Parts: sequence; C-alpha cells; structure tokens
Amino acid sequence: MQNNMLVTVISTGYFILCFLIPLGYLFLFARYKSKKKNYGRAFIIALIMFLILFGIKEVVKENFLNVKPLNCYLNKVCEEKEDEDKMDENKSEKATKTTTSSSTTTTTSKVVKNEKTYEKVKEISGTKTDKGKTSKGYSIYEINGVTFVDGYLIANKSYFLPESYVPDNTYTKADGNAAKQCPTCIENTAYQAFKDMKADAAALGLNIYISSGFRSYITQSNIYNRNVTNNGQEKADTYSARPGSSEHQTGLCFDLNTIDSSFANTSEGKWVNQNAHKYGYIIRYPKGKTEETGYIYEPWHLRYVGTELAEKLYNNGNWLTIEDYFGITSEYSE
Ligand SMILES: [Zn+2]
Repeated sequence: MQNNMLVTVISTGYFILCFLIPLGYLFLFARYKSKKKNYGRAFIIALIMFLILFGIKEVVKENFLNVKPLNCYLNKVCEEKEDEDKMDENKSEKATKTTTSSSTTTTTSKVVKNEKTYEKVKEISGTKTDKGKTSKGYSIYEINGVTFVDGYLIANKSYFLPESYVPDNTYTKADGNAAKQCPTCIENTAYQAFKDMKADAAALGLNIYISSGFRSYITQSNIYNRNVTNNGQEKADTYSARPGSSEHQTGLCFDLNTIDSSFANTSEGKWVNQNAHKYGYIIRYPKGKTEETGYIYEPWHLRYVGTELAEKLYNNGNWLTIEDYFGITSEYSE
C-alpha cells in the first residue's frame, strides 16, 4: 500500500516536471532575454526538452521492467489500457459474466464459491520425443523442444524453452521479437479464467491486475543480463530466470500487482493465495520451497494449470510445487 503511494507520488511528480521544466525555460526566456527574441526557436527547444524528459520515462519503463516499485505502477497503466480496448469489444459478454460472478460470491467470508471447471491448456502440436519417466513415474517428453510432463508444459531451471518458442492462441497475439512484456498475451483459456478471477475479486472490492505477463526470450535475456550486471549472477539467479528458463515465455503465467513480498500481506495477496486455485491458477513459487523450485517465495507469480491440478497443488492451503508433485528438478546444469 505504502509502496503504491510512493510510486504514485514519484511518477506524478516526474510527470509534472516534464511540463514544468520546459515551461520554466520559456518563462525565463520571455522574462530575461531582451534583444531579438526568437520565440519560435525557444518553443522548439522547450518541446525538445519535454520530449527528452518524457522519453526518459519510456526508457526507464522499457529497461527497468524488474525494478520495483516502478514496474507495478508503469505496467499497471499499460495493462489496464490494453484491457479496456478489449473490454469494449466484449461489453455484452462482460456484463453477463459480472452477473454470474456476483451471484456466486459470498461477500461475508471473502471466499468465492466458484463451481466452474477450468480445463488445462492443450499440448502444442508436433512430434513427441519420449524422455522417459520422472522420479515419480510421470511421463516426460518434448514437443518441438518444449518439455511436457503428464501433459503440462514445464519451464524451469532444468527444462529450458527454445529461443524461438512463442505461445500461440493467446488473448493478444504474442510477439517473439517484442522487447517488452505483454500483460494480455496470455493463453486464451488462462486469460478467460483470469478475467473471472479479477471480476470475482472486484466484487469484493479487491483490485488485482497483471503487472508482468508474457515476456519473449529477448525481453527475458535483457532483464536477466541487467540483473547480473547489477547484482552478480549468483544473486540474480535467485529471482531472475535465465533466458529460456522463464515461465513468462510460456504465456501461462504472470505477476500480479506489486512484485514484492509485501504483496502476500495485502488483502489482494491473501485472497489470491486462498482462491487462485479455483480458477486453475497456482502460486508457482510457494513459501519455503526454494530448494524445489529454485526460486524465492513469489506470492505474486501465478501459473495456470487448470482446476484439476491446481486443486491438488493447493493442498488445502499448504501449497505443493510442480517439481515435487511430478518429481522433477529445477537446477541449472552449470
Ligand atoms: Zn513472474
């Protein structure tokens, strides 16, 4: 909450500065320069100043995707904007959904009775290459270089995605060359489930939004390299995925709201932890499971698996990991 306030103050302040500095220049120009004033040139200079200042904001947005709390604020704006466009197209559909969700919501207990079943995402098409069994006896295989276990796509520190992998059938078309994350380039089934979840949360006065969704291999590569430069590889590996090993390239996951451990203690964070599985989502990197997942606790990172598996992994609130459930590892080979 405090984070959000701080971010709003900083970014609003910066936005005002973008205007104030060029205007201040014009003011001083008009006031102090006496001979042969070239107002046209002064105006162009002021305009360039504005564009540069505004440009800096865009550069920061582009290059500091993982910087919190900047990330949350900047991407929140972009997610909601893109979403609005889509919502206009689906107004009638949305109206029906809202009615359904409110009738199935128990406002008193903040628990949603969602009886809907959300199917798991279909495997990609291509030739299967058998890779044997996991330590818990599940079949493991590759399709076009992408690893699946028992029909679920796996991307972690042991199982990398090919550089060229771009999910299809996403809500907004995913671009493999995009240099920034796309909050709505989420696999269609998963995105519809998210919309239901968002609507049900909203009916309880909670605001959940995607702050980082699909990231292309290139985007992840930029983020990872920057984190290594800033914090060293060992530290970076605990929170930032090497390109190819990020789930964000799958289009099946996203980060919610504030990408900060404090999210777990917000009303939204608590609700998500208790209810996400009803929409087929799991807390992908649960608390105390770093040994299994290879990542620190990320209460904000949700992965879509469908309600059947999500229910099992939810495990009455004592989250299991994909790695533990299927008997696979998540470790870099070097
Ligand atoms: Zn994430």
